[in-house]
Amino acid sequence: MNSLANTPHRLSINQATIRAQCDMKQAVEEITRAGISGIATWRDKVHEIGLAQAARLIRDAELKVSGHCRGGMFCAADKDGIAQAREDNLRAVEEAAELGAGSLILVVGGMPPGSKDLSGARQQVLEGLADLLPVARAAGVKLSIEPLHPMYAADRACVNTIGQALDLCDAIDPDASGDIGVAVDVYHVWWDPELERQIARAGKARLHAFHVCDWLVPTQDMLLDRGMMGDGVIDIPKIRSWVEREGYDGPIEVEIFSERDWWRRPAAEVLETCKERFATVC
Ligand code: ZN
Repeated sequence: MNSLANTPHRLSINQATIRAQCDMKQAVEEITRAGISGIATWRDKVHEIGLAQAARLIRDAELKVSGHCRGGMFCAADKDGIAQAREDNLRAVEEAAELGAGSLILVVGGMPPGSKDLSGARQQVLEGLADLLPVARAAGVKLSIEPLHPMYAADRACVNTIGQALDLCDAIDPDASGDIGVAVDVYHVWWDPELERQIARAGKARLHAFHVCDWLVPTQDMLLDRGMMGDGVIDIPKIRSWVEREGYDGPIEVEIFSERDWWRRPAAEVLETCKERFATVC
């Protein structure tokens, strides 16, 4: 297995990893100070200081934006809700373009409150994606579907495997242009017995992003108890080898939501640990 120790330029920090400690400006400063060259932005943090200012900070720091988080949330109970989701996604595409993001990350949404219609929600996702793709294309922004672990199927994402995401890509973009693809986040997909085969099916054009953290045993919180790489049970190098076998050589993004642990530590300590684990256990 090739080590990442000699490719520090591939490390990118998802802003969520230090979201409790840092606003946008502080995040850019801390990441730059740590000698890390990539960031993935979050919309709420960008909105706090304004898009133009966020883009300027990132440009001045010469950070690469591995992804902009997040668009999607396509599902709604009625037409107004669908229209609102569409408006929000158009803004997200504009932001991703302005920030120079590698892609817009899409968490597709779950079932509307009160609904039990999972297949209907999945149909709304298909329609939402098909509607958004030409807009994103015109803006020069790639769309990356991020399947989430099935524990989020009800309320966050009814697309739960790479295979399911690729079925959507096939339906919307049968020529595999690469304008729509997948974000492989090990936290969400490590358990999938189909994972190796589906990563091979994706191929380089549709492998847009690779997110790392770890699955802690036991997990204390569905959303906010992700582990630092090396502290859990995911064989990250193995999954990385599958992605790289297809030619993926892009950023490796650390994305850790950790209310109990890493969000309580100084950002500099978190980033140093990310660098060390990136070089040794990813
Ligand atoms: Zn992710």
